[in-house]
Amino acid sequence: MTPSILVVGERLSGHLTSATREAVGVALALAGPEGSVVGFLAGSSLDRSVTEFGELGVTRIRTREDPRLDAAGAGAIAVSVVASAEAVSASVIVTGGTEFGRDLTGRLAVRWSAAVANGVTEATWADAGGLRVLRPVYGGRATETRRLTGSRIAIAIRPHAFAEPTAGAAVAIAEPDAGPEIPDPLLAARRTEVAAAGVSAGPALSDASIVVSGGRGVRDANGFRLVEALADSLGAAVGASRAVTDAGWRPSSFQVGQTGKAVSPQLYIAVGISGAIQHIVGMVSSRVIVAVNNDSSAPIFRVADYGIVGDLFQIVPALTKEIRRVRGLPAG
Ligand SMILES: Cc1cc2nc3c(=O)[nH]c(=O)nc-3n(C[C@H](O)[C@H](O)[C@H](O)COP(=O)(O)OP(=O)(O)OC[C@H]3O[C@@H](n4cnc5c(N)ncnc54)[C@H](O)[C@@H]3O)c2cc1C
Repeated sequence: MTPSILVVGERLSGHLTSATREAVGVALALAGPEGSVVGFLAGSSLDRSVTEFGELGVTRIRTREDPRLDAAGAGAIAVSVVASAEAVSASVIVTGGTEFGRDLTGRLAVRWSAAVANGVTEATWADAGGLRVLRPVYGGRATETRRLTGSRIAIAIRPHAFAEPTAGAAVAIAEPDAGPEIPDPLLAARRTEVAAAGVSAGPALSDASIVVSGGRGVRDANGFRLVEALADSLGAAVGASRAVTDAGWRPSSFQVGQTGKAVSPQLYIAVGISGAIQHIVGMVSSRVIVAVNNDSSAPIFRVADYGIVGDLFQIVPALTKEIRRVRGLPAG
């Protein structure tokens, strides 16, 4: 049977996110030359993203043009995704590994009776049938292999675990989908990640390739500005430990970890964060981890590739200054 795979598009500032681009790469690899990949978009002003899907090699896009869906939660979007999946006889739905994507797979488990997996770092067809997926578990200490079987499978991939596709440059055709009516209670749930994006000028946390996070070591809300200045010098997103968000120094949308966001950027810099397991699980799959801490026995150094032992109030401003100089940016 030739697979038909639906990729759920997520957008930020009107563009497909890198998480979606990576999901397209996974879908194209699974579809192979015989199968088909169909994109899905919901919200308003979708034309630019339809074109972007085409540039990635996806030529058929189901579109649900409805401004109410711009910042709708996964519950509302799932209604429309399922309708599109049925319309194109999809057997697999792939989403990016954002908070929204992970929420969506949960909805699809119920609404579409799908076998689901989140945080997927590898996905191949299993010889015995179904999809064989790998995903890190226990804070990255082990890798779980799962076989998802049945005619309906939904996966959310781990951010930055897959490359974006390089092929493409095809013309994409939008297939408008009136879809089923979405119940009001589902529309009432708004996506907080979209709302939070307006607060910070930097890239979105779960989508960024560099994340600089600060912890209790910064002492107070004012001290956290050092973390933001370092992030700004690198064009990075800003994260925080729960100590920071609990203290109200920054909003909870900044929180990285078990009860916050999972990130896996190319570079994660932890400033004044001790490295509690609940924080580690949210960032341990980052490609390179740098920690700044004045306690050489802090657990964060066990997962760090590079460690700087010292006072963050001296190290971080010096680091920021040097990065701005090297990058040719005006002194902050
Ligand atoms: C159910 C549950 C869920 C949780 N979920 C999360 C979660 O999602 N994310 C999360 O982060 N936490 C979570 N926590 C909390 C977690 O257990 C830790 O309490 C929290 O991560 C600690 O934050 P921190 O590292 O900023 O603070 P601390 O543990 O207090 O560490 C501060 C660090 O700063 C260093 N420091 C101090 N001064 C300086 C200086 N001048 N220069 C350099 N370094 C300095 C110290 O040496 C220390 O290592 C959760 C806890 C529970 C029970």
